[in-house]
Amino acid sequence: MVRTGWLAGLPAALAPQAGWSMADAPVQLNEPLIISTWPFGKQANERALKILAEGKTPIDAVEEGIKVVESDPSIGTVGGGGAPNADGVVQLDACIMDGPGQRAGSVAGLEDIAHPISVARRVMEKTPHVLLVGAGARQFAIAEGFKPAQLLTEGQRKHWQNWKEARQRKALGITKSHDTLALLVLAPQGHVAGGCSTSGMAFKLSGRVGDSPILGSGLYVDGEVGAAGATGIGENVMRYCASYQIVEFMRQGMAPEEACKETIRRIARKDPKGFKLDINFVALNRKGQFGAAGTSAGFSFAVATPQLSKVVSVVPISE
Ligand code: ASP
Repeated sequence: MVRTGWLAGLPAALAPQAGWSMADAPVQLNEPLIISTWPFGKQANERALKILAEGKTPIDAVEEGIKVVESDPSIGTVGGGGAPNADGVVQLDACIMDGPGQRAGSVAGLEDIAHPISVARRVMEKTPHVLLVGAGARQFAIAEGFKPAQLLTEGQRKHWQNWKEARQRKALGITKSHDTLALLVLAPQGHVAGGCSTSGMAFKLSGRVGDSPILGSGLYVDGEVGAAGATGIGENVMRYCASYQIVEFMRQGMAPEEACKETIRRIARKDPKGFKLDINFVALNRKGQFGAAGTSAGFSFAVATPQLSKVVSVVPISE
């Protein structure tokens, strides 16, 4: 079945407040849908679509899409060129997950390797494990043929130097420097997959791991239901297993946007910070519905189908 029904009305429905839950979306799809966090997701989505069009797998699409952003040193929050930690070292987090068989792989605190998403995929495909961290993750990557690379750019080194000097002067505000790429794929026949990649919070303590490589927090994929991914302050996501919660709400029948919103509301009810959480989510389900919600001003996401590729702003929720 072609998605003509809701696809035809999509551009207008993409207005942030329009409530594009598309409740009557057809169940069968013969075209892919890709959704990802932030405007830099657009180039990743487009690459992922191309990979699917070449007949490759949804996991190939996730990996190759995310690699585009990891490869761009001007994007200061993902892959090479990402923000360093408090010691001036870039430590990367990533994970990948496939709906069929609930397969997953993850790396955290990975140093010197430019494509953590590819290492996460190798963990999934070549080891009996799910998550490798730090020196062990690096050792595994090298053994798998990944070449060590200099990830710290001169620009990021200067940022870090300034941050260190400000810290010594105790003039330090909260760093807002962080943005994860979470990318979700719905391929024909309802095959769902996803991945995420980040350098995490800028100037984090060495060894700090955020939500992004933690399944159920920064990403969750359920082959029967759909997928969700996160960006924002990982500590506010991982204490609530937020991506898992979004998928569970979708399983109960909520449309993706509502599932994202309801998860944020649930967190805000319990958390002393209320809605001041700086957390944002994207989600899609196997019916081809997608949505996003967040608490951060300026959050946006990218969506792509063979017919369109757009960046959509999200109005932050506060109740
Ligand atoms: N969630 C990431 C982390 O806490 C950062 C981000 O997405 O903004 O590491």
